[in-house]
Amino acid sequence: MKQIINQQKQYFNSNVTKPVVFRIEQLKLLRSVVKSHERVLTEAIYKDFGKGNFNTYLTEFTGVYHAIDKAIKNVRKWSKWKNAATNMVNFPGRSYIIPEPLGACLIIGAWNYPVNLTLVPAIAAIAAGNTVVVKPSELAAHTSEVLSNMISQHFDPSFFAVVEGGVKETTELLAEQFDKIFFTGSVPVGKTIYEAAAKNLTPVTLELGGKSPLIVAPDANLKTTVKRLVWGKFVNAGQTCIAPDYVLVHSSIEQSFLSLLKKEIEAGKYSFANDNYAQIISKKHFNRLVSLIDPAKVFVGGNHDHANRIVAPTVVTNVSVDDKIMEDEIFGPILPVLTYENIDDAISFVKSKPKPLALYLFSEDGSLHRRIWNEISFGGGMVNDVLMHFVNDNLPFGGVGNSGIGSYHGEAGFRSFSHFKSVIRRPTFIEFPIKYFPFSKLKSLLIRKAFGV
Ligand code: NAD
Repeated sequence: MKQIINQQKQYFNSNVTKPVVFRIEQLKLLRSVVKSHERVLTEAIYKDFGKGNFNTYLTEFTGVYHAIDKAIKNVRKWSKWKNAATNMVNFPGRSYIIPEPLGACLIIGAWNYPVNLTLVPAIAAIAAGNTVVVKPSELAAHTSEVLSNMISQHFDPSFFAVVEGGVKETTELLAEQFDKIFFTGSVPVGKTIYEAAAKNLTPVTLELGGKSPLIVAPDANLKTTVKRLVWGKFVNAGQTCIAPDYVLVHSSIEQSFLSLLKKEIEAGKYSFANDNYAQIISKKHFNRLVSLIDPAKVFVGGNHDHANRIVAPTVVTNVSVDDKIMEDEIFGPILPVLTYENIDDAISFVKSKPKPLALYLFSEDGSLHRRIWNEISFGGGMVNDVLMHFVNDNLPFGGVGNSGIGSYHGEAGFRSFSHFKSVIRRPTFIEFPIKYFPFSKLKSLLIRKAFGV
């Protein structure tokens, strides 16, 4: 581990990774390597938690290929030195903003989208001219192994390496001095990462989680609401950081909302033996989810299969804000539905909780959309849909407050792995005496004028 990191530091210092041509070559290589490993990665994800081929292609590979193509197309533009205006006191002179890579970067991934959540940040780091160590989650062990073999067979470890392991290995990595740490995972582990990074003043991006609300207003198109909600909640068996965690529905439409919800779930698109569904990643996670289901409050589902680590799509109603299920992020296929009478109460409730990673509002009322955007702080979200903001990489993706620090995707990813160096170049043929001793009233006046204060 130490050796790889030292080699990467030397490699970075040799400036090899900086030319845009090098970055593009490596991105093209990564694209072809992922393409040639698509089948084996898909099989590994299936072994890890039973996610079917279609969903794996949709939720893992499309994002990776798109991120590479976008970076290849735009990296010249993103990495260009930009001219900035020069202020009067620096006249004559020229000012520049120079994007520079940070250096040796560490990317720590989560297991729930094990390819996308490790490679998309790596693509941004490479596009920005860095070296990269990726540490995939040990919980998606088969995928981690394939990623490790795939990268080590095709990339020089001085430039791009995978280190496998769990808490012990990650702790060892964190003891090393990196120039950037990019972490995707839970809030408690995010705090550990931040603490470790602080020891070396290493900049971080923390892509965390939390309880993302979905608000259904009385004027919502219920049929579409339910269709989109059920897809977004139960794809990947609810193991999605931006999945709607709970629903706040207006009491006047609760019954019609619930009956449509039941119908949509019972249509069987997310049933036990269905390759549209997924297993819960581990026994521990499975037991935690089962313990959250209060049988007295089950409205749909509630059944589970211990041997195969499957929890049926479940809706619970009559939920109180003090119930256990409302404490932490659920991260599984259980959906609590709560009601509100007045939108002010719904807004106050969401604001009383840590800032969520995502917020969804279903309503046709433009003034309500603007009110929610104005009054509630959240990482990102949608009106009348769920999850799909993640795939618009013209938008930065990230959390705020408890749900994370920083963002990525598209140019935001490039920026999160770059430093923007500000430089002024001045000629030597002329020198104004104004700032030098001896001082005078006239100089003082000129300084005030020059600074405009
Ligand atoms: P996790 O925090 O348990 O693990 C994430 C990574 O940290 C793994 O690589 C793991 O090996 C490592 N790790 C775990 N414990 C550690 C410790 N004590 N010290 C050092 N490293 C440690 O998260 P997870 O279970 O893999 O993922 C689920 C969480 O991630 C959910 O909270 C979810 O919302 C969040 N998530 C966020 C995003 C996002 O983009 N914001 C995406 C996916 C998942």
